[in-house]
Amino acid sequence: MKMQTHLFVQDKGNFEEVMQSAGKIIRAGGLVAFPTETVYGLGANALNPDAVQKIFEAKGRPADNPLIVHVAKKEDFFRLADEINPTAKKLMDTFCPGPLTLILKKKEIVPDITTAGLDSVAIRLPSNKIARELILASGTPIAAPSANRSGSPSPTSASHVMNDLNGKIDAIIDGGNTEIGIESTVVDARGDIPIILRPGEISREDIETVVGKVEIGYKDNKEGIKNPLSPGMKYTHYSPHAEVILLEGSAEAIKQKIAELIQQYSSEEKKIGVLLTEELQDNFVAMKVISLGLASQPSVAAQRIFSAMREMDMEGIDIILVDGSFTSQGIGAAVFNRLRKAASKMINL
Ligand code: AMP
Ligand code: MG
Repeated sequence: MKMQTHLFVQDKGNFEEVMQSAGKIIRAGGLVAFPTETVYGLGANALNPDAVQKIFEAKGRPADNPLIVHVAKKEDFFRLADEINPTAKKLMDTFCPGPLTLILKKKEIVPDITTAGLDSVAIRLPSNKIARELILASGTPIAAPSANRSGSPSPTSASHVMNDLNGKIDAIIDGGNTEIGIESTVVDARGDIPIILRPGEISREDIETVVGKVEIGYKDNKEGIKNPLSPGMKYTHYSPHAEVILLEGSAEAIKQKIAELIQQYSSEEKKIGVLLTEELQDNFVAMKVISLGLASQPSVAAQRIFSAMREMDMEGIDIILVDGSFTSQGIGAAVFNRLRKAASKMINL
């Protein structure tokens, strides 16, 4: 069904008015895409099964992949979830509001469609002002996966959302580029030892500082995930149309290999794009070069990887070579996770 997608452009003068109008759409069972500090989310009333169904349809998302429920106040965790243990409370007190999603035992009030039939629910309290004000204006928790077509790179700007979902959703609130650029850290907080199901800006190191021991429940490669702890793990993710080749190892080895691959693919008349750390800039001639920032500062790579993939697609690039010489510490682990999932080939040097 084709509809007119309204773009809300907000500023100080009309902020309240935009929030009220968008909140009204959510209350009426419609879909509104909005910025969060991580990526843009596609929101619907989390407690209204018909509204949530529209999210799955607009995104083309498999029905067995549950949604994250976004709330504006800490009290709402207790409204939606049961048996919140001391470990979960510590994580909430330290990281919420922020880019952390907690998996908790679901209460009856959360419909099955929102959690894809699971007895757990994913809850996040975003720090982004537009996100929080929209939830408050809606008067209901908002279920919101990333606002992209299922499988494509997550959107970090309103135009990315427009490209994927124009005509399929009621409205988009333009809030500029998102701050972090990759999705929230997902942590199963039901046991005494939390399990990281998806890495994000809040890193393993950050969580360990607060609760001590942490388990890793995700795998970066696409193969071999038969019984995923988080249903979303088994689906193809973040893939641009171009083929992504990720190179890992020392900067020097990566530099040599990229030069070799550029030569090889150029002779096959392929259009080549490269994503390079700042240290390896200016070494290559390729159709398009995008910087990932300094190897020691993976937060910059996080901000850029998804929009870079979309930009490469817009320019008709066939092959994207990615320099993976940045650190895997902190948010670096999450950047590697997204790149490894997007890659059709990984070369370890
Ligand atoms: P997205 O909203 O597109 O960022 O995806 C949300 C992620 O959270 C997916 O990987 C889901 O599988 C995961 N998720 C949501 N709810 C649950 C849950 N109850 N248990 C485990 N993982 C969940
Ligand atoms: Mg997503």
